[in-house]
Amino acid sequence: MPGSRTPHGHQPYLVERDGEVWSVATNGRVLVFLAGKAADFEPAPPVVAAQLLHFIDPVGRSTSFYLHELKEYLGAPVWPVQCPQCHGQGTGAAGACSQCKGDGGFPPEPRPGWVFSVLLDRNLLARALEPLQAEIVWVHGQDCRKPFWVVADAWRVVQVPLSAPNGHDPNSWEADSYPRLGG
Ligand SMILES: [Zn+2]
Repeated sequence: MPGSRTPHGHQPYLVERDGEVWSVATNGRVLVFLAGKAADFEPAPPVVAAQLLHFIDPVGRSTSFYLHELKEYLGAPVWPVQCPQCHGQGTGAAGACSQCKGDGGFPPEPRPGWVFSVLLDRNLLARALEPLQAEIVWVHGQDCRKPFWVVADAWRVVQVPLSAPNGHDPNSWEADSYPRLGG
């Protein structure tokens, strides 16, 4: 079900920086930068390119993990279930599909956990990392209001942490009991 992996309105793009081309894809909460030109991506319009490049350089303190160790901690990725009414199209007779509200599917439950002091949906990160390979990766984190990076030589993943506004208060007792990887 490849369609369900590309939410509506989030087109993959090519961006250029310092003479290097990166392929970028996002679903609004995770950005994936791949070094080089991927398949049929199109150059991003300048405004979009500037927005995307804002997230290319990691910020914050960092630590390294073996990628397999990180993936093991995150668990197996679970993908959205395709909407049975519109078959992932997101559209119905009167505009947006009435069952999925235009999303084309239903997202899996978040799988909260801490990585290097940042509270993340581990499933979302597992999905982004699934096709990516590396031996060692650098993780950059600040706090739960700032982006979180996983950086390898040939790719970078940037994720929005879980936070109070999206229903996960990192200071709650519940959040304190979530699993942890790194200090
Ligand atoms: Zn639908």
